Amino acid sequence: MNPTPADETARPIRRAVCPGSFDPVTNGHLDIISRASALYDEVIVAVFVNQSKSSLFSLDERRAFLEEVTAPYGNVRIDSFEGLVVDYCRENDIAVIVKGLRAVSDFDYELQMAQMNRGLAGVDTLFMPTNPEYSFLASSLVKEIAKWGGDVSALVPQNVLKSLNERAGAAG
Ligand code: ADP
Repeated sequence: MNPTPADETARPIRRAVCPGSFDPVTNGHLDIISRASALYDEVIVAVFVNQSKSSLFSLDERRAFLEEVTAPYGNVRIDSFEGLVVDYCRENDIAVIVKGLRAVSDFDYELQMAQMNRGLAGVDTLFMPTNPEYSFLASSLVKEIAKWGGDVSALVPQNVLKSLNERAGAAG
């Protein structure tokens, strides 16, 4: 049964955040973002602003890639933030952080973070097992492969591919 407009206003909007560096966005990130967008009313992809960590792509470039590849979902919004993700959640009325788990090795650290975030601010974390196709995939690995001229066309969206080959090639 379709909800009536009155029902829509009766319940709060369920928002989730997918935080990360996204330098650049990969098909592994997109898998998690698209699945989160099917579970929540609104998904905010929040790009970390990390002054001390050097990135291959600028914040604006990383956001532009994300804007383009998430446009088809309709309920995904791109933002950036500095500081603690729980503060970002509080300020934006977000109850859930969505994280992809690639392997058991991700779990140790992510569990600690999730428990800390729940303890600090009551923000829950939803872990999604990655599609096995992407369980080895990390932005850092993609950049390394591209730097040496390897083929990453199956690992990143089309808009990222061209820029990545140019940028990583020039840096390598
Ligand atoms: P990376 O770890 O690739 O440098 P980020 O810091 O941008 O990337 O990752 C942000 C989040 O995206 C991670 O905490 C993880 O939850 C998720 N993620 C990254 N890569 C994958 C992948 N291949 N499959 C599923 N989730 C992923």
